[in-house]
Amino acid sequence: MAMLRFHALKETLNRKPVEIKENGRRSEIFGDNVFNEHAMLQHLTKDAYKSVMNAIEFGAKIDRKIADHISTGMKEWAISKGATHYTHWFQPLTGATAEKHDAFFETIGSGRAMEKFDGGQLVQQEPDASSFPNGGIRNTFEARGYTAWDPTSPAFVYGTTLCIPTIFVAYTGEALDNKAPLLRALQSVDQAATAVCKYFDKNVTKVNASLGWEQEYFLIDSALAAARPDIILTGRTLLGHSSAKGQQLDDHYFGSIPNRVMSFMRDLENECMLLGIPVKTRHNEVAPNQFELAPIFEEANLAVDHNSLLMDVMEKVSQRHQFKVLFHEKPFAGINGSGKHNNWSLATNTGVNLLSPGKTPMKNLQFLTFFVNTIKAVHDNEELIRAAIASASNDHRLGANEAPPAIISVFIGSQLSAVLDELENVTKGKLSPQEKTDLKLNIVGKIPEILLDNTDRNRTSPFAFTGNKFELRAVGSWSNCAGPMTVLNTIIAKQLKDFKVEVDALIAKKDLKKDEAVFNILREYIKASKKIRFEGNGYGEAWEKEAAERGLSNNKTTPEALKAQISKKTISLYEEMNVMSKIEVEARHEIELEEYILRIQIEGRVLGDIARNHVIPTAIRYQNTLIENVSGLKEIFGKDFKKLATEQIDLIERISEHIAGINSKVNAMTEERKKANKLEGQQSAEVYCNKVKPYFDEIRYHCDKLELLVDDNIWPLVKYRELLFTR
Ligand code: ADP
Ligand code: MG
Repeated sequence: MAMLRFHALKETLNRKPVEIKENGRRSEIFGDNVFNEHAMLQHLTKDAYKSVMNAIEFGAKIDRKIADHISTGMKEWAISKGATHYTHWFQPLTGATAEKHDAFFETIGSGRAMEKFDGGQLVQQEPDASSFPNGGIRNTFEARGYTAWDPTSPAFVYGTTLCIPTIFVAYTGEALDNKAPLLRALQSVDQAATAVCKYFDKNVTKVNASLGWEQEYFLIDSALAAARPDIILTGRTLLGHSSAKGQQLDDHYFGSIPNRVMSFMRDLENECMLLGIPVKTRHNEVAPNQFELAPIFEEANLAVDHNSLLMDVMEKVSQRHQFKVLFHEKPFAGINGSGKHNNWSLATNTGVNLLSPGKTPMKNLQFLTFFVNTIKAVHDNEELIRAAIASASNDHRLGANEAPPAIISVFIGSQLSAVLDELENVTKGKLSPQEKTDLKLNIVGKIPEILLDNTDRNRTSPFAFTGNKFELRAVGSWSNCAGPMTVLNTIIAKQLKDFKVEVDALIAKKDLKKDEAVFNILREYIKASKKIRFEGNGYGEAWEKEAAERGLSNNKTTPEALKAQISKKTISLYEEMNVMSKIEVEARHEIELEEYILRIQIEGRVLGDIARNHVIPTAIRYQNTLIENVSGLKEIFGKDFKKLATEQIDLIERISEHIAGINSKVNAMTEERKKANKLEGQQSAEVYCNKVKPYFDEIRYHCDKLELLVDDNIWPLVKYRELLFTR
């Protein structure tokens, strides 16, 4: 094994950056492999084109006959791009993407063949779904699942395959994927937000949620990663003593991008351009070998698809560059982990960003309406948001010693805090003309278009307003954005719906003017949601204590956090907004608990194996060398040997202690695992979380001590300094 480590290191040191040829300007190749409007205009009949556009804009159904025209055009286009196969591309509930490829090729008798792809094959497919997680849905209903084309996210050619974005549903209608609920949530927020927009502008007929994600990741040389069973099997290091130098000098963050990485990034960006993923920003991150990639924001459904696709493309491209990309939220102890900020906003079809302060008091009242409603929605549903970002791997960030914390709060900056404080004192009921003028001129009218303090963000806040959008920062780098986006858009939809009802009631019953009614309700919301607003440092015990006093939840572990997913309140919220049924909600919860259990179970097994079969034998080998040395000294120097062998004898003893420590802790962990395995669901997850997992640190402690004691020449596992500083 030590051989493998040194072999890997040697291989790594001989690497050269892969040469990348860029084919032309990025603006020219952008979307080349996407069946976008431009491609549709060229390859579809007028009717077929119109029908797809109607489906995209108004959710209109596509006629089966027309679907045949569309599929034919799509096939010809795809073949011209080198495609031989097609697949219904979807996002099963465990996060990654799934695809089963079918060839266009079909035999047509008398020894001949042709390329075929009809409307039926485009619109609906039946993947062999029995192996995708369904949380009991299909057992309950004995229903099979099918994938259905989602025309709002364009088809694309990747490699030699035409990929058709689809949703995955059971024949009884329940969603079996991440995307179907997201689409329903987006539809629901569209309806609710459009209705509220009409108070301010009658021309608004559609509101789109937007998402701009920022993907953080680590790049590790593939040979080094392959020599670490923990990285290969769990996506993170389960042990390894920290490197003498970590991120303390910030030299990686401010340094230039390493050559091999630069070449990877250019290759990746090139692929992204062809696939229509509008990546724009690339940079080093805080931890060594950590990087970030961010696109220009897009409509949320498309952005979610693009992020899933990106993660897949990153894995493929990284192989060409002999890298392994790590999406795990905490691959290395002691240095920063990775997140995926979800920048979110709402925009009207008239081109207005509803979370951007405007030029006029009226525009600003509209801004404030959406701004305050968002804060209120987060306040009322903080536990559900926490649940949406919970996972075994993200637990290493949230609730561990790293920002953002597990406590959900909202940061808005001092300028807007001041505005809300003023609005809180608006008179209840009718406003005097004087007061109205004052409000419009001096409060609402004074909100500057550019908010200065929002450029200096509070990096510890899990949900921060950053000038013209909110930024949900607690999302994990490994997760699918669909989950948090479904929750966020659903709670905003519900909030806006309630707001509209309340404002309308004030206008009808109390005879208030529209803006008076809006001010009145906002005033109540500002008061009611005050405890969720927090401008301070969200990292550490002081805030934990204060948050507890405020009555905010602090669910530190996934099994705790996930409970909010199936509360009565959550189920009625999803049902009211037509996003998910009770069965769908419960199925998802079951799957997420199960995934948590499996991940901790695998980590436990891998750690036990490495500690027992790699670390202990190596330690014993080294100890034997020391024992031989001591016996030799005794032979030569007789009774005087002790003076000369003090260090060696001490080492021999310490090694024995750590070996004993590993053995007893691994045994104890295994016992707890056995108990957990006899339980199910929540109970099993809690035992894994509270009884099994704590042993990880204890076992690791002894292993890492041994790493420091044992001869480097025989240490089998690639060390932190090698993983993090080899480029
Ligand atoms: P950073 O947070 O890294 O300093 P920016 O604040 O410029 O970077 O933007 C971060 C991300 O926010 C980008 O991916 C950008 O596309 C996205 N973004 C900007 N405006 C919006 C918006 N209105 N809706 C959603 N995302 C947005
Ligand atoms: Mg950001």
